[in-house]
Amino acid sequence: MWTTKGLARGLLTTPYPRSRPADPGAMPPLPRVTPVTEAGTAVTEVCPTGALTLDGGGVAVDLGRCIACQRCRLDAATMAWTSKQHVVRQVSASGLPGKAFRHSLHVRVVDAGDGGETLRELRQLTSPYYAIHRLGIFFTPTPRDADVLLVVGPVTQGMRQALLDTYQAMPQPKWVMAVGSGAISGVPFGPSFTSAAGAGDVLPLDVVVPGNPPPPLAILDGLLTLLGRLPAREPLP
Ligand code: SF4
Repeated sequence: MWTTKGLARGLLTTPYPRSRPADPGAMPPLPRVTPVTEAGTAVTEVCPTGALTLDGGGVAVDLGRCIACQRCRLDAATMAWTSKQHVVRQVSASGLPGKAFRHSLHVRVVDAGDGGETLRELRQLTSPYYAIHRLGIFFTPTPRDADVLLVVGPVTQGMRQALLDTYQAMPQPKWVMAVGSGAISGVPFGPSFTSAAGAGDVLPLDVVVPGNPPPPLAILDGLLTLLGRLPAREPLP
């Protein structure tokens, strides 16, 4: 499909971040905070991960726990959903990479127990359509060359020490990004005797990208937020 599109347009690569593609499915929606009647508050009980809580006159959504199962939309038919899928958050108050890294940011990815879906989205970033290298962002196989540790998965017990060793091997300054609900909160597996409650249980986080899985553009959004090329977001409560 990409090849056909490229031939038709004469250009294969997405114009993002100059403009955002409007293709349906490119950036899938997530539930958003919804005012509900008293009868509608039962929606919190259908959520399998505890992402929904009552908050004043409405239902609040913890996107870091949402696995996008849609039960709150289809089973309970209560929650509103948004197409505002770029919900990257800066969670640390410490400084982000800044201008010095704008044209050369090296990212080490660690699979800390991902189910495969987030890695699949991540892999798309080096394809001709997303062409992450044009933005000065590169994946590296060695932590010695890495500026950013990008974690996917809830951090299983088997990967805990490997993740810590990778972080220790990275030179200063360094930053940590949790991508996907598993890496943010450990859902649906952790915390348990086999896995942690996400990467934040093990390492200090700087940026999180919710979604299950987050689409390639949301991950790219997170990297550009880290680089200061997109405006910083509100810290998570
Ligand atoms: S989509 Fe599923 S996980 Fe997300 S808030 Fe709704 S019920 Fe919970």
